[in-house]
Formats: sequence, structure tokens, C-alpha cells
Amino acid sequence: MHELSLCEGVLQVLEDTARNQGFKRINIVWLEIGALAGVELEAMRFSFEVIKKGTLADSARLEIIRLPGQAWCLPCAKSVEIEQRFDACPHCGSYQLQVTGGEELRVKELEVE
Ligand SMILES: [Zn+2]
Repeated sequence: MHELSLCEGVLQVLEDTARNQGFKRINIVWLEIGALAGVELEAMRFSFEVIKKGTLADSARLEIIRLPGQAWCLPCAKSVEIEQRFDACPHCGSYQLQVTGGEELRVKELEVE
């Protein structure tokens, strides 16, 4: 389950941020996850519960913000939303898409003490 190692990466970011900004506890973590990031949201929630134990995020709540997949369609010459990588363009059915967004996995915001 690679979500576990992703969560370890997130926790690393939280600890670095805490050191830089001088807070000791985190109440809420808002995590942005793109539809094309290849992340199982349920596995992510589960992993977070496991990994936060005994850390500064011990009692923190995880809020996941899901970002849509986005791609540039060459035939349409515009940006379209896609559900998964290798989806066809929802407007013209073309597969000539270049992914431009939706691969994010980042901490957007924290509520801290
Ligand atoms: Zn198109």
C-alpha cells in the first residue's frame, strides 16, 4: 500500500513546517489530492490514522480536497476535465490529451495550536 509511504512524506512536511513555524500540535490537515495522483482516498485516510500516532498530528483530523484531473485537448484546443489518465476527451472523444493538472498531493492548509 503506497499510501502509507505517501503519508510518511506528508508527516515529514508537517514536522518540518512545525519546526519552522514553531507550533506543537495540529488540529486539522487539509490535503489536496488530484484525481490523477493514483491515490486511494480511503487508504490515505487509514494510513494517516496509523502514522499520526504519537506525533504532533496525533489528534489531527484529515480533510481531503479532491482536485479534478485536467488535460489540454489538442483537437478542441482547450482544457478539459478527465476522471482518469488515458481517458478520452469528454467533448470530442480524442485521446490526444496532455495532462495539465490533477497529479497533486500536497498539504494545502493546517489548523495548529
Ligand atoms: Zn477534445
